[in-house]
This record gives sequence, structure tokens and C-alpha cells, in this order.
Amino acid sequence: MDVMSSAAARAGVEIHTDTRGSALVVDADGRVTGLRAVRFGDSVHYRARHAVVLTTGGFADNEAMVGDHAPALLGHGTVSDGLDDGSGILMATALGAATRRLAAVQAALAFVPLMACHGLIVNARGERFINEDVYPGRFSQAALLQPAPWWVILDEEGYDSMTPEQRMGVEPRFGAESASELARELGMPEGALERTLELYNEGARVGVDRVHHKAPRWLRELAPPFAAFAPMPAGGPHGLSGFTLGGLRTDADGRVQHVAGHAIRGLFAAGRAASGIHGEGYVSGTSLGDGTFFGRRAGRAAAAGV
Ligand SMILES: Cc1cc2nc3c(=O)[nH]c(=O)nc-3n(C[C@H](O)[C@H](O)[C@H](O)COP(=O)(O)OP(=O)(O)OC[C@H]3O[C@@H](n4cnc5c(N)ncnc54)[C@H](O)[C@@H]3O)c2cc1C
Repeated sequence: MDVMSSAAARAGVEIHTDTRGSALVVDADGRVTGLRAVRFGDSVHYRARHAVVLTTGGFADNEAMVGDHAPALLGHGTVSDGLDDGSGILMATALGAATRRLAAVQAALAFVPLMACHGLIVNARGERFINEDVYPGRFSQAALLQPAPWWVILDEEGYDSMTPEQRMGVEPRFGAESASELARELGMPEGALERTLELYNEGARVGVDRVHHKAPRWLRELAPPFAAFAPMPAGGPHGLSGFTLGGLRTDADGRVQHVAGHAIRGLFAAGRAASGIHGEGYVSGTSLGDGTFFGRRAGRAAAAGV
């Protein structure tokens, strides 16, 4: 028995695995009173003494929902257990539940952060789009709006300044004696990478990144030979994967809100089935933290029957 199961057993909670919720049951007054589910192929019906709390995760694994609401993630890898199909969100919206921030996503582009700081992150057109010395979740989010593939461009001095551990085993995908040769290898428009490097180097010489405001401590003229680094594999074709952050609109105790503005009685949600604290973007830990913090609040409120 794992830690969670034994804690649940002590609290008198029964866990039914291999049980898939398929629809919420409501009484004539619109109160949620139970759940229909399928367990080992059999239909089962759970009656809720107080309430149902949906903690079914997000919808990263539901391609149709991603296409409708969070298309930025289409074609990329998913950060999930493979079962984040949005079913809890759909069960609740079938009762008129409101949703919030369905387009918000977490994105992870697996560049080695220190390598990015020493070099440039560029899009498929050889253009920079962000200061490289940011939290990786932030350059990943920015990359979603840029044409893929994305690259880190680094010179020999930058590469040599890192220890093998700092490079995390990542080797150059392409190397070249000049920026134009590298740009040709990468299929970039003629002259684009050269212009990006010229502008960056111009700023580096005076210690100012006028376009993206990278901290002066990272600014150094990049000189040939150059190398291009791809992100580490992460499920999708371009090394980016993510999950959805939006979900059901709840109050701070997890009560699911109806589109008409009132709470749906007997229905709570937490974790990625709900929209929680996230706006645009994501910081590591905020999804687990959001799920546990609001999950506990939702559980308490549901048990109290309020
Ligand atoms: C590799 C990896 C690394 C991560 N790192 C971090 C991190 O550092 N920090 C962070 O905050 N987050 C991180 N996350 C994300 C975080 O794990 C999730 O956002 C979080 O687990 C969501 O919690 P949840 O309880 O809402 O949903 P989930 O953990 O997705 O759980 C939902 C569960 O509901 C089940 N389910 C779905 N539909 C039904 C249904 N109809 N009936 C019954 N069961 C159903 C699913 O099978 C699943 O078991 C990471 C995720 C992965 C995969």
C-alpha cells in the first residue's frame, strides 16, 4: 500500500481504481447527487452523500478539445499520464458549468538553460524573440508563438566555458565556420541569422541588449565558429511539450460555478480540472501546489456539505 492509500485508509476512504466516471447525476432541483461510472466493464452508480469533487486533470490528451481551446499545444508533446482527456470538464459543462482560461497552457522547451544564457535562442527564421536569461517556462511560452524549430546558437568560447555536467550531455546538432553557413544548414532565410548576430554583438560590445534586455553579465560578442543546439527530446517533434492550465470556474473552495453565475450545488473541482491560480504562463510547482491547496479546500467544503 502506498503512502496515499494508507493515509486514505486511515481516514476511512475507499479507493476504487480502474473506475471511469462518465456522467454526473442530478436531482430535479439541479443538485449533483452522484456519478455514473464504468468499473471493470460494468456500469456502476455512486450516490454522493454530500457532493462530487472532480479531480480528473486537464485536457492535454484530448486533441479535439486542445484544437478548440488551446491550439498552441497542437502538434507538441504532452506532459501528462496519457489520461488527461478533459472528461471531468466535459461532465460539468454538460450541466452548464462555466470554464475559465481554457487557452492557458504550460509549455516546456527542453533547452539547457545555461547554454541558452551563454548564447541566443532563435526561431526557424533565425530571429531572437526573448532574453535568454529567463526562467525556462518563460522562453518556452514565448517559443509557442514563434515558428519552429527553435535553436540555441552558441560559439566555441561559450561552449568551452561550460563543464560537461553543465552541458547535460547535449551536443551540437550542427556546426559551421560562419553564421551564413550555419543558417544554410538550418534552412533559415538568407541573411537573417547574420543580422541577428550582428545586432546582438553590437549591443554586447557596449554591454546592452537593446532589443530583449538580457542581463549585462551574459553579454559577450559571439564569434565563429558557431554551433546550433536542438532542445532535448520531449515527446513532440520540436522538443516542446505541455499541459493545459484552464478548466472549470470555481470559487476558492472549489465550488463549480454555473454559466449563469451561481454555484452548481453538490459539485466541486480542483487541480487541472479547474482553472485555479493560473493566468498566462506557468511557474514550476504551481500546478501541484494549486491542486493540493485547492483540493484540500474543496474536500473540506464538500465534506461539510456547504
Ligand atoms: C513529468 C511531469 C513532470 C511534472 N512536473 C511538475 C512540477 O514540477 N510542478 C508542478 O506543479 N507540476 C508538474 N507536473 C504537472 C502536475 O503533475 C499536474 O499538473 C498535476 O498532477 C495535476 O493534478 P490533478 O490531480 O489535477 O490531475 P492528474 O494528476 O492529471 O490526475 C488526474 C487523474 O484523474 C484520472 N481521470 C481522468 N478522467 C477520469 C474519469 N473520467 N474518471 C476517473 N478518473 C479519471 C486520470 O487518469 C488521472 O489519474 C508534471 C507532470 C509531469 C507528467
